[in-house]
Amino acid sequence: MSKSFSIAIDGPAGAGKSTIAKALARELGAMYLDTGAMYRAIGLHMLRKGLVDDPDAVAANVNDVDIEVRHVDGVQRIFLSGEDVSEAIRQPEVSMVTSTVSAIPAVRARLVALQQQIAEGHDVIMDGRDIGTKVLPNATLKIYLTASAEERARRRCLELEEKGMAEPYEKVLKEMIERDYQDTHRAASPLTRADDAVLVDSSDLTLEQSVARMKALALEAIGNRH
Ligand code: C5P
Repeated sequence: MSKSFSIAIDGPAGAGKSTIAKALARELGAMYLDTGAMYRAIGLHMLRKGLVDDPDAVAANVNDVDIEVRHVDGVQRIFLSGEDVSEAIRQPEVSMVTSTVSAIPAVRARLVALQQQIAEGHDVIMDGRDIGTKVLPNATLKIYLTASAEERARRRCLELEEKGMAEPYEKVLKEMIERDYQDTHRAASPLTRADDAVLVDSSDLTLEQSVARMKALALEAIGNRH
């Protein structure tokens, strides 16, 4: 049997990571793990408990959070104490809170261990901020996917509109820039391009073109891994 492969996709918010990773996972028959959803679930839990402004309390409580990732018909769902929170974690107010709690080392330690455990022995495509640098340092292929802040905000607005959660463009852009700043400047595992990651800028690419480009990179890397 051939060895399993892993593809790490990192980049800022709204670059298209999850949409492209899902499409790639389907085409390559791999498991897709959205690590941002796991951080969002912790963010939502801490928001509900009123702990987001107290990093020590977040760190003290994170190991007791009952978080579970399940794949239902190939689609990832995320549960907090048995409650499916896959939609609740997408509310815009959860995004910034998540960026704040995800800077806490204890939160990262818990989730990185869980992500590595889920990936073990599977062909996997994972997206996030520290996949190539921390979670899968030996990934078969690492991609740093980005796009201009304006283009990312435009796409995020469309996505929110489709979900019936429309927000003004200026607000989305401002929050996205703030969140990226926080994610790239934190001390624990900041968002950064791994030395061996391939840079893909999707600003001028359609979704189909981005998927095709990344699929070509993936097939080349999988073919070359032995
Ligand atoms: O990917 P998504 O935008 O859903 O991630 C939400 C937040 O979770 C990010 O802004 C970031 O702060 C955090 N995150 C992280 N490490 C990951 C994935 C997400 O710190 N691997």
